[in-house]
Amino acid sequence: MLENVKIVLIETSHPGNIGATARAMKTMGLSQLTLVKPKLFPDPEASARASGADDVLQQATVCGSLDEALVGCEWVIGTSVRDRELPALLLDSREVGRMVAKRPLSLGAIVFGSERVGLTNEQLHHCHYHVKIPVNPVYGSLNLASAVQIICYEMRMAHMERLEKEQHEYEPLAKNEDMSQFYEHLENVLWQVDFLKKHQSHKSMLRLKRLFNRAQVEQREVNILRGILTAVESTLERGT
Ligand code: SAH
Repeated sequence: MLENVKIVLIETSHPGNIGATARAMKTMGLSQLTLVKPKLFPDPEASARASGADDVLQQATVCGSLDEALVGCEWVIGTSVRDRELPALLLDSREVGRMVAKRPLSLGAIVFGSERVGLTNEQLHHCHYHVKIPVNPVYGSLNLASAVQIICYEMRMAHMERLEKEQHEYEPLAKNEDMSQFYEHLENVLWQVDFLKKHQSHKSMLRLKRLFNRAQVEQREVNILRGILTAVESTLERGT
């Protein structure tokens, strides 16, 4: 997913910001950088600010127009600090991450404006979505590379969330009958260790069931829980 996202910088004035952008991208796992009419590139200041991410700079593509930069993109998101009169669909930075995570295989671009003027309305019209990073309403203009860092971070978080969810979905959940046997076993053991008292045993068991239901217990986990209960029983039987 992250390798399919292009970061496009338009008419960047300070080469240091290009280097800092490369660094911001690489730390979050992105590598496709496209520069539209940069004022100074390549430049030693860009390489210095890229730190260990100069491979991103070396692979960067330089284009003469935004149209050229967006060839092959299936979705385009424009970033802007200013509210526009006729915005495209407006997203916040977290929503950008989620939206991109939903389309892991499609190629897309996130476009950033120049330090001095930002994105023009004409450039924003190339974008399907607009994103504004929620900032202090009285001072909201982030440094260009900081804005890139925040958007890339949100994409990374959403990507990781997605991977974790997939892994979790792959792990089979405990079956209903296994959970019923577990609850029966648990109740028996709780009586044996004198934890349950007559007047509140029913309520306590209901609360425990609610707790385990919330946890969405996996098959392997219910086996461990049953193992623990069996170990408690054997210790009780031995009287140790
Ligand atoms: N002076 C410009 C701001 C330039 S900041 C203006 O008034 O528009 C450089 C770039 O960083 C912007 O073009 C935008 O791409 C990005 N950026 C800065 N702050 C942002 C924010 N709060 N939300 C989204 N993008 C932001």
